[in-house]
Amino acid sequence: MLLMLAAVFVYFLPSFIARHRQSFAAIFLFNFFLGWTFIGWIIALFWARLAEPRVPVIVGSMPAYAYAGHSNSRGAKFCSGCGRLAQPDGRFCAGCGRSI
Ligand SMILES: [Zn+2]
Repeated sequence: MLLMLAAVFVYFLPSFIARHRQSFAAIFLFNFFLGWTFIGWIIALFWARLAEPRVPVIVGSMPAYAYAGHSNSRGAKFCSGCGRLAQPDGRFCAGCGRSI
């Protein structure tokens, strides 16, 4: 029984890989009807691997505020004299020359 389940799983492995693909229905039908021929199963497997993902790739980078928040959390300081943002590793303010 367990062996049969494993065999069914292996048989539908291409469909399982393609479950999130746009061409899932076509791959599944191909897998279902031609999977019993070994070459049909191989083709379905490659098809599933090569098919384009349905979910669009998340484009763009992280928002700018994410970077700003990250750098601020790394110990950026403000000058007590003029209020300018000082370099995190600097000892003196670039604006007025005060020590920080
Ligand atoms: Zn200053």
